[in-house]
Amino acid sequence: MRGLAIALLGALALGPTSPAAGEAREAERFDVVVVDAGHGGDDHGARGKGGLIEKDVVLDVAQRTAEALRDTGIRVVMTREDDRFVTLEGRTQLANEQKADLFVSIHANASPVRGARGIETFFASPEATDEAALDLARAENLAFGEDAQPPAAGDPLLAILGDLIATEQLSESQEFARMTQRRIATQESARSRGVKQAPFVVLMGVRMPAVLVEIGFLTHPADEKALADEDERARLARGLAEAVVAYRARYDARRGLAGGSRPAAAAH
Ligand SMILES: [Zn+2]
Repeated sequence: MRGLAIALLGALALGPTSPAAGEAREAERFDVVVVDAGHGGDDHGARGKGGLIEKDVVLDVAQRTAEALRDTGIRVVMTREDDRFVTLEGRTQLANEQKADLFVSIHANASPVRGARGIETFFASPEATDEAALDLARAENLAFGEDAQPPAAGDPLLAILGDLIATEQLSESQEFARMTQRRIATQESARSRGVKQAPFVVLMGVRMPAVLVEIGFLTHPADEKALADEDERARLARGLAEAVVAYRARYDARRGLAGGSRPAAAAH
């Protein structure tokens, strides 16, 4: 029975084009992740009292994450590798062109609320978890292109974008958000604020599972101090990379593809 089930699963995964099975399997295999460092150039993002700037800290964490992922054989595409401005459309377009399997956007938080601190991971939704999540999405959406108006919350465009996000993509994003939050908000100092939803344009424009992580509040002195620390940045990058690797294993296993090994080469 077990053998039959596996054969059936295999047939389902391969579809009717079994002569090109090798290629089909290659296409289905998890191989590309987009790592998106928020802001850049004139768009500084949040700023801490101690002088730490969001665009700098997220680029460093993004580069460390990319390096850790490349070590595992995953192809990494970065939306920016230096201090430059990239529109939100430019970021989503790149991810869609690359047919990425996963999109990870890295940001740092700011809040007028005294004492607000910790790490939170978002996935896309036209509806925000709460007012704070909505305010955050509004602030992050400001990096929408100069000639394009950022859609306001309640804008029908956002609802349409939300509808366009496939159910499967959404549930995959939620799952990956949980996996990520578990791995980056592990220490006592890294207070977990949990997994949330908000209408981030950068998440709603991509056709693949996507999350946005807020790695701490630059407006909180202890968080800012932690984010200025190389060890903390390395820890965050390790956690992010581990989440992607765990997601890849799950992704490939569900398609009947053994983790890590290449599929048997089809003779041509
Ligand atoms: Zn940001």
